[in-house]
Amino acid sequence: LEFKDLDIGIMRTLTKDIINKENETVELMGWVAARRDHGKIIFIDLRDRSGLAQLVFVPSNKEVYELANKLRSEWVIKVSGKIAKRPKGMENAELETGLLEVQVENLEILNEAENLPIDVYSDGREIGEDVRMKYRYLDLRRPRLNSNLKNRAKIINFFRDFLVKKDFVEIETPIISKSTPEGARDYLVPSRLQPGKFYALPQSPQQYKQLLMVAGLERYFQIAKCFRDEDTRGDRQPEFTQLDLEMSFVKREDVMEVIESMLIETVKTLCPEKKIQQIPFPRLSYKEAVDNYGTDRPDLRKDKNNPDELAFCWVVDFPFFEKTENGDWTFTHNPFSAPIPEHLDDLMNKKNIGNILTTQYDVVLNGFEIGGGSIRNHQSGALVKVFEILGYPMDKIQANFGHMLEAFKYGAPPHGGIALGLDRIFAILFNEPNIREVMAFPKTGDGRDLMMEAPSEVDEKQLKELHLKIIDNK
Ligand code: ASP
Repeated sequence: LEFKDLDIGIMRTLTKDIINKENETVELMGWVAARRDHGKIIFIDLRDRSGLAQLVFVPSNKEVYELANKLRSEWVIKVSGKIAKRPKGMENAELETGLLEVQVENLEILNEAENLPIDVYSDGREIGEDVRMKYRYLDLRRPRLNSNLKNRAKIINFFRDFLVKKDFVEIETPIISKSTPEGARDYLVPSRLQPGKFYALPQSPQQYKQLLMVAGLERYFQIAKCFRDEDTRGDRQPEFTQLDLEMSFVKREDVMEVIESMLIETVKTLCPEKKIQQIPFPRLSYKEAVDNYGTDRPDLRKDKNNPDELAFCWVVDFPFFEKTENGDWTFTHNPFSAPIPEHLDDLMNKKNIGNILTTQYDVVLNGFEIGGGSIRNHQSGALVKVFEILGYPMDKIQANFGHMLEAFKYGAPPHGGIALGLDRIFAILFNEPNIREVMAFPKTGDGRDLMMEAPSEVDEKQLKELHLKIIDNK
């Protein structure tokens, strides 16, 4: 995309496009990436979103040359000049534009820059993460992170196109909503207009997407932000992105087929250097996985040192319920799941509870669970049985899930879905050790945003409006 410059009437050229414009006079805008002085000549590497181009300033163009003398790293400039072949021996084979240079005729300084607090050209791993987070907008100038963000967007676009072609409808669901039991702690938002009441940020769009099936949409997807207030152990983030989808009139194989073909096509098209170890993805039961690999997310790579090997697999037939420490039943994955058809009778009679298997399917990549979903209980009777086994009293079931039970009375189709954890998938595809490297603005391990300084205190007035008081527990 080029923008017409209203002041001058010259179109801005991107650095990468100078290769087609030898002998033309162009206008370029960007950042000073590097400066080299050779004798009296000043060379500047100009960076824009497309790459780098070499600018040349000679003393004979006195005024411009003197201005160029002031240029320092990361200043923002606009230049115009003629594109010419570099002199013999001065070419740079490593640069796309390395055969050419821009002989600058005009220079305008659009903004100066102080010395940057961090190096933005190294791969960044040598810099403390706290400083990188504080100056994330600079950290993201780093080519590695810059391309992670661009590649992330490319893959998301690919998913979108793929699903839209298959008749999926992209639908946004609310962020301020009601607590959904997904096994984690909710982020709560106090209501100003309803004193003493709270919204919860969604741990996933689970209930909304099921209600969209009741609404007759049949095929929904969303690039959904999900929020879980967990102690951030290891590589977790308080908010993360899922590709969330739901389909009506399907069996688990149908949902698995959509996801599997989407992942295969994505890798083949956008990550051709990666090799998928086995197609179709192998399928293991939970029992086989645990018996043979000691985990329900086995790493099936043959050569774990090869960064380009992708070993996907499906794990199915998980137990629906497990005992908590105090001997109560809890769900292993998702309370909205249906049992496998053979075990529906046991659920309805609350028999052999520990042996009931769920329709849950997890997709695993190189030892990481990258997604999971299930076929749901679309009849309210079965859903109530699940909540009864979990030990919820009827009034709590009504208060928390009454809307689902009621919705299922009005012609809910059989349905099922899945969600993929996108941050993890990108980290693996981009050979990054953690998900913070593939997110624009991640938080620290203890849930802080060091750049925005969040969380932060708020005014007494705001607290009052929200009917809140801070209690000092110390
Ligand atoms: N809501 C589930 C999750 O976030 C995914 C699903 O069952 O569709 O893990």
